[in-house]
Amino acid sequence: MNIGTTTTLNNGIEMPLIGLGTYKIDDGEAVRSAVHWALDAGYRAIDTASMYQNETGIGAAVADSSVDRSDIFITTKIWNSDQGYDNTMAAFEQSMARLDTDYLDLLLIHWPSKTHMAGTWKAMEELYEAKAVRTIGVSNFLAHHLDQLTSFANVAPAVNQIEHHPFLQQPALLATCDQHAIKVTAWAPLMRGGVGNIDTLVAIGEQVGATPAQVTLRWMIDRGVIVIPKSARQQRIEENGDLFGFELTETHTAQIAALDQNSRTGPNPDDFPGT
Ligand code: NDP
Repeated sequence: MNIGTTTTLNNGIEMPLIGLGTYKIDDGEAVRSAVHWALDAGYRAIDTASMYQNETGIGAAVADSSVDRSDIFITTKIWNSDQGYDNTMAAFEQSMARLDTDYLDLLLIHWPSKTHMAGTWKAMEELYEAKAVRTIGVSNFLAHHLDQLTSFANVAPAVNQIEHHPFLQQPALLATCDQHAIKVTAWAPLMRGGVGNIDTLVAIGEQVGATPAQVTLRWMIDRGVIVIPKSARQQRIEENGDLFGFELTETHTAQIAALDQNSRTGPNPDDFPGT
C-alpha cells in the first residue's frame, strides 16, 4: 500500500483511501496551497462541499497543478438548503462551475433530510446516468436513513461519509454499510486534532515510531475505511499521508477498539437542524 492506494467502490470506480479534508480552509491562497502540498505529497483525492466555500480555490489549484485532472478524485456535497430535485440540480451546476470541472468523481448528500431525500437522490441518479458524476453517495446517514434511501433508490449509494474516530467507532453502522456494499469515509478522523491527547495513541505511536495522528489513520485504512484528514499546514499534510513506514499489531488494534466512547465532535444526524 502507498498514499495512492485505492479501494473499489460498488460501481467499479476506484477511490483513493487517503484524501485531503478541506473544511475550514479558507478559499483562495490557503486552500490553493493546501491542495498543492497534498498533490506534491502524493494525495490523489480532495474532499470539499459547497458549504465549505472553498470550491473555487480547489478548482484553481487542480487546474494549475502538474497532476492531470483525471488522476485526482474530487468529492463535493449537496448542502441541506439545496436539497430536493430542482435545488440539487442547480447546486450541482454551481459547484461544477466553481470547481471548474466538467465532471465530478463523487457527489454526496451532505446530511440526511427525510422530506427531501427522494427528490435529491433522483437528481443525483440522473447526474450519474448522464455521466456528469462518476459516483453518488451519502453522508451522515444512520442505518434507518440507509433503509429509507434503499427503499426507493435505483442506484445504490457507493459511499457513506460519517464521523468516525477512536471515540466514535460506530461498529454497527460500519457493519450495515458493509452489508450494503457501501464504503465508509471517516470525517474528523483526527477528532479535530484531539487524537494527540489520547495516551493510548501516544504510547502506540512511541512503540511503532509514528505520531498519534498516523496511528489513527493507519488503523482506519487497515480496516478498509477511507480517511480525509484536514490540515492547512504542509508538514502535517505530509505527516497524514505518510502512513506505511510502520505496522500495527492485533494488540494495538484491540487497544484502539477499547477507546470507543460513542462520543461525537459534531451533531447527531437525527438532531441536525433543517433535516
Ligand atoms: P480532522 O479530524 O481532520 O482534524 C482537523 C484538525 O486537526 C485541524 O485543526 C488540524 O489543524 C489538526 N491536525 C491535522 N493534522 C494533524 C496532525 N498530524 N497532528 C495534530 N493535529 C492535526 O477534522 P475535520 O473536521 O476537518 O474532518 C476532516 C474532513 O472531513 C473535513 O476537513 C471535511 O473535508 C470532512 N468533514 C465532513 C463532514 C460531513 O458532514 N460530511 C463534517 C466534518 C468534516 P491544522 O489545519 O492547523 O493542521
